[in-house]
Amino acid sequence: MKDKSDIGLVGLAVMGENLVLNMASKGFTVTAYNRSYEKVEKFLSGRAAGKTIRGAKDIQELVASLATPRKVMLMVKAGQPVDDFIELLIPHLDAGDIIIDGGNTHYPDSNRRTEYLASKGLHYIGAGVSGGEEGALKGPSIMPGGAIAAWPHVKDIFQSISAKVANEQGELVVPCCDWVGDAGAGHFVKMVHNGIEYGDMQLICEAYQLMKEVLGLSADELHQVFADWNQTELDSYLVEITRDIFAYKQADGSPLVEDILDTAGQKGTGKWTGVTALDLGVPLTLIGEAVFARCISAQKAERVTAAKLIQGPAKQFTGDKAAFIEDIRKALLASKIVSYAQGYVLFKEAAKEFGWSLNYGAIALMWRGGCIIRSAFLGKIKEAFDQQPDLANLLLDPYFMDTVSSAQSSWRNVISTAVANGVPVPCLSSALTYFDGYRTERLPANLLQAQRDYFGAHTYERVDKPRGEFFHTNWTGRG
Ligand code: NAP
Repeated sequence: MKDKSDIGLVGLAVMGENLVLNMASKGFTVTAYNRSYEKVEKFLSGRAAGKTIRGAKDIQELVASLATPRKVMLMVKAGQPVDDFIELLIPHLDAGDIIIDGGNTHYPDSNRRTEYLASKGLHYIGAGVSGGEEGALKGPSIMPGGAIAAWPHVKDIFQSISAKVANEQGELVVPCCDWVGDAGAGHFVKMVHNGIEYGDMQLICEAYQLMKEVLGLSADELHQVFADWNQTELDSYLVEITRDIFAYKQADGSPLVEDILDTAGQKGTGKWTGVTALDLGVPLTLIGEAVFARCISAQKAERVTAAKLIQGPAKQFTGDKAAFIEDIRKALLASKIVSYAQGYVLFKEAAKEFGWSLNYGAIALMWRGGCIIRSAFLGKIKEAFDQQPDLANLLLDPYFMDTVSSAQSSWRNVISTAVANGVPVPCLSSALTYFDGYRTERLPANLLQAQRDYFGAHTYERVDKPRGEFFHTNWTGRG
């Protein structure tokens, strides 16, 4: 073990312990610290025994054990505990030392902390860490942002412990971790990652409901469909686990998934993404619908009552089942493209709003492995931004444009069949609505402006006059 540790980690809950073990397995020496010291002792005598891990009894001992510039990573409960630890650390650190927050922090807090620590001569990194407990141990996706001066000092540690994806030669060497951007950009990207995760999950759930209720597919048949889809452009972790979920049987041979109560929980990162999109004026409709879908799922008792009182259409399907399953696959793919297109528009607006320079291609690469939304598809997003770094919308990239165009008739067939059968498909349909809105030259907002001018004298611009020239009409002729 080296005399001085390469990094210190505060917070020995599931994520922290596993990250420490991951770092030690890559040859780094780590000092572990926790508010309650029993956890340090238990860790040292248990999972950390015999590894390049030392413990610290207090903050002073933690800081004294570190090589300079000192690097302290916080893996504690997001919010006040992070601010509390920052205050405890500051008196012991020297200019140029680095504090990293790897928790699920809301990005405005990271914006604030970057500035605050810079005022103390210290560097702050807000790093989104995805992949849960297992990812932390075996290779998470890490999205660091903040003070770029700190990046060269932590790059080797972070890229060594992160998940790896294959390079062009098929070698697993490309790290799912790169510098994201300034201030809270790392936590912003992690937040959008979580929002996209909400969207991807809901899209799969809508496909499931259509296949189950309209086509009458059994769990075994659904298992086969998702196994097949995982061999296509939809190849992803979430499709893979969905395949496995349908194969999981209870002792009596029945599928477990059908006995699970249909009320979804949420921890709030999808909501943060939606609220941020509303604040920045970005139509992030699919993620918004995915959050609302969880909300309506939670209204179970009311839905049970309503189901008894309100009748919908009888479900019927007379077409070719296999062809419709392929239509659903294409609708899912096209909708997923819309979701990522919307997420990337949000990145662009945030970059403008906060003055960040975001590395768009690298973001897609960071999500290729280690995290919940990992998929082959992300490689195409990286290629799109490599070819056109200032691409306004993924829907304008030739590959995505072609894919969505060739899915269009299937997509429309799926939505109309869902509507005719009364099956709710909020994400599949909002994606199509966005797509149609985005490709429509003239929307009915002319009438909307007329209404605004009518009741509020909000004025309007004219198609035959330069932009920026405003007109008002006295619509009633009354004074
Ligand atoms: P956690 O349950 O969120 O936090 C536990 C840790 O925070 C413990 O070390 C605890 O210390 C400390 N802590 C809690 N309240 C504190 C306070 N008021 N003051 C000081 N310390 C306090 O642990 P976790 O699940 O490992 O997650 C750590 C961070 O990673 C969180 O921000 C979480 O959101 C994020 N994250 C979690 C996952 C996951 O899958 N779990 C995935 C990605 C990111 P004591 O032991 O003394 O109570």
